[in-house]
Amino acid sequence: MSKQLEISALMRRAEVFWARTDRTATCWLWHPPLDREGYGKFSVSKVQFYAHRYAYLITVGPIPDGMHLDHVCHTRDAQCAGGRGCLHRRCVNPDHLEVVTPGENALRSNSPFAIAARRTHCPQGHPYDEANTIRRQGSRVCRTCERAKGERRRDQGRALRAQREALRRIENPPPAVGQIWQDTDPRSHGRTVRIVEVSDTHALIELHERLGNETPGRRTRVRLHRFRPRRGYRYLGTN
Ligand SMILES: [Zn+2]
Ligand SMILES: [Zn+2]
Ligand SMILES: [Zn+2]
Repeated sequence: MSKQLEISALMRRAEVFWARTDRTATCWLWHPPLDREGYGKFSVSKVQFYAHRYAYLITVGPIPDGMHLDHVCHTRDAQCAGGRGCLHRRCVNPDHLEVVTPGENALRSNSPFAIAARRTHCPQGHPYDEANTIRRQGSRVCRTCERAKGERRRDQGRALRAQREALRRIENPPPAVGQIWQDTDPRSHGRTVRIVEVSDTHALIELHERLGNETPGRRTRVRLHRFRPRRGYRYLGTN
């Protein structure tokens, strides 16, 4: 569809052109012929034009090379399913036509991708502006929501750790005077000890049950970090 015609030559057919439109309150619908995609066709001196491009040429002016004409009426109509049956494609109302780049035209369509791309706010209502937008695999992610999600995850993590820690303290309390602990070293044959004194770094223990040839009441200093089953002592209880 070339437009290598003088504007004066184009204008000569304007009257015929407008006579073949149905002017509704909004759209001016072009009568057939239509092309296979449902766009109006119109010939001037054997040069074929899209009807809407012709309407734009004679009312507004030339369309820059490589630019598309967008049907604004279609873009604004969220109900229109588009495709060949879309009546907007036949619309030649110059007020409904806008010059856009091909990319912009694709973005203005009603495809799910285009609809998502047009959204200016996230589902929670935060703006998709420069500061609040993270680009991820071609789509936009709201920074505020991401941060909130991270905080929720951290809160859950903290709660879980606190729960585990509380449980651990029941099973494995900090060393205190009067507690009975069992030596987990297999060579000790399960001997038990009682804490008689605790300092910042050590606990003073004495043999609680006499086993083998050990001397009852013998006292030893043990570093506090060893009061963990895997490090040397398992908590048994207090007496
Ligand atoms: Zn229209
Ligand atoms: Zn439409
Ligand atoms: Zn958000």
